[in-house]
Amino acid sequence: MSLRKQRLIEKFKKVDNLEIIESPSDVKRLSKDFYNYSPILDKKLDGCIADLVVRPFDRDAVVKVAKICYEFSIPLTLRGAGTGNYGQSVPLFKGIVMQMNSLNKLEEYYPDTGFVKVQSGCLMGDLNKQLAKYGRELRLLPSTWKTATIGGFIAGGSGGIGSIRWGFLRDPGNLIGLEAVTLNEEPKLISFDAQEAEPLNHAYGTNGIITSLIIATDIKRKWYSLVIDCEELHKAIEILKTCAIAAIELKLGAILEKDIVDQMPIWFKSKSKNHKILIQSTLGGIKTIELICKKYEVSSSLLGEEDQLPNGISNVVWNHTTLHMRAKDKNWTYLQMLLPLNKEFELITSLRKKWGKEILWHLEAVCQQGIPRLAALPVLKWHSEKQLNQIIINCKELGAIIFNPHVLTVEGGGLGVVDSDQVKAKLKFDPKGLLNPGKLEGWEIKDEYDI
Ligand SMILES: Cc1cc2nc3c(=O)[nH]c(=O)nc-3n(C[C@H](O)[C@H](O)[C@H](O)COP(=O)(O)OP(=O)(O)OC[C@H]3O[C@@H](n4cnc5c(N)ncnc54)[C@H](O)[C@@H]3O)c2cc1C
Repeated sequence: MSLRKQRLIEKFKKVDNLEIIESPSDVKRLSKDFYNYSPILDKKLDGCIADLVVRPFDRDAVVKVAKICYEFSIPLTLRGAGTGNYGQSVPLFKGIVMQMNSLNKLEEYYPDTGFVKVQSGCLMGDLNKQLAKYGRELRLLPSTWKTATIGGFIAGGSGGIGSIRWGFLRDPGNLIGLEAVTLNEEPKLISFDAQEAEPLNHAYGTNGIITSLIIATDIKRKWYSLVIDCEELHKAIEILKTCAIAAIELKLGAILEKDIVDQMPIWFKSKSKNHKILIQSTLGGIKTIELICKKYEVSSSLLGEEDQLPNGISNVVWNHTTLHMRAKDKNWTYLQMLLPLNKEFELITSLRKKWGKEILWHLEAVCQQGIPRLAALPVLKWHSEKQLNQIIINCKELGAIIFNPHVLTVEGGGLGVVDSDQVKAKLKFDPKGLLNPGKLEGWEIKDEYDI
């Protein structure tokens, strides 16, 4: 162990309410996320392991860790539960990983607005249980909601179950404010309102250490899950779009093409060989969905209340579809895109002609800036980076907007452009560029950092 590392550990040992994790196997485990869904990232990130992991139990400890990292000019990468798919919480330049999951309390519920103030390391599953006491629930959930943290979702996620109604995390009205610790010479805990919080929302923890968030919640409803069988994919798309614009409450609307259904866990597969449309709505809404099914002459089966099912349909949507495909064959990977409005089936048909069953289709109904749209998380058979890039080009030519899950930067996985407000926030709150270095394209990185 270098002298510098020994001095660093001595400093951390003096911080109250801070756990230091040095065991090589734990440090390795806590330096990884689910980047192996991408063969490209898998190759790039394999050797990226932190020097040390720390876990703070209160805000004071977070401030002290920030001060030490600034003093030693050591990279600091934040980790919630490490369920991200793009290596967001992987320390590219080693240094310290700080696991935030022990800052996990619901701090305040505001009955007048339905807002909740919660510490960033709270698991969304736990938060939803606590919100239920107030008759509320989270608006948006990743399919990993049982194990992922709310801070990691805001800093590294985008949307998921609930996006059919509430859009994406960065849409105005979802994040109301946050508190974050800066990485300056004298780190400070600062409160940000909704507008000031924007640059820290989906910034992969590159411009502030979020300690708590104020988020909007929804009235808790009983969501019922229903599966519709449909022989033709174009008809399934039409039905899903009809359901998405009906005057009913919806939590989820997705399509799995039949070749994907065949690969899902036994509890989900049925004897039918058809494409499946998956819907979550209230019992009132289900009545309307059943009428829509009658009109389109397709059959549906009501599975029951999602929360009461041993295996709900939330377990086979969003990136959980990819998870199950990969459980069968690790050569499946995926893409994420917004499909061109009213040309969804055209795009799928065109790609099928060119790539056949190398691409299998999984669609999700979302609300994009107030407009009902279809997103897709198709699964792809992995052959080479060249082929993946060609598929991306073909999708773009046909009008899709790609959110590439095979890249490391905030910008690469988003719209591909630098957000100057994110960079300005980094300049102000992390002038040495120590927070999660290498993840913000708009910030020039040092070649290496010493420990
Ligand atoms: C099977 C599967 C399904 C998924 N489905 C979805 C989905 O439907 N929607 C979706 O959006 N994502 C999805 N994901 C990705 C991921 O699970 C979610 O985005 C999740 O919310 C991340 O939370 P986490 O606690 O695991 O964050 P982590 O992976 O630990 O961190 C994510 C990012 O946030 C940063 N971060 C963590 N805590 C803080 C903090 N306190 N302050 C500042 N930055 C911080 C990290 O540095 C990292 O850059 C899925 C992943 C898998 C493997």
